[in-house]
Amino acid sequence: MKYQQKKESSILSKIICTRCSKTDYISFIPAGDRPYYCSECLEEMHAHRKQNKVEEMPSKKGTVYRFFCVKCDRIVKQLDKPLARDGVLYCRHCTDEMLRKERTANRGKVTMIKPKDK
Ligand SMILES: [Zn+2]
Ligand SMILES: [Zn+2]
Repeated sequence: MKYQQKKESSILSKIICTRCSKTDYISFIPAGDRPYYCSECLEEMHAHRKQNKVEEMPSKKGTVYRFFCVKCDRIVKQLDKPLARDGVLYCRHCTDEMLRKERTANRGKVTMIKPKDK
């Protein structure tokens, strides 16, 4: 769907899409620092969210979980149950990465005072 010129009376807020960095307009005032997506990405993510289910497939190694990782932007198959955050699924790799980043962020907040022995 193409962006249509809206009436000047309606509110249009300029946003930069979190996903593709494209500029788009939304018909409401953005609140907070939550991510915003352009209409194209919204549509795409909507479609993904619909198929945001985990398929469990039995295999010799155990259950294989097949799902769409929003971060990788592709279908992932893994032996661990995917982590669901904010209603979206993340593969093991992305989960690890996120946890590592969170840990690093937490570490940054804590000032470690260690006596330096020379
Ligand atoms: Zn976008
Ligand atoms: Zn991933």
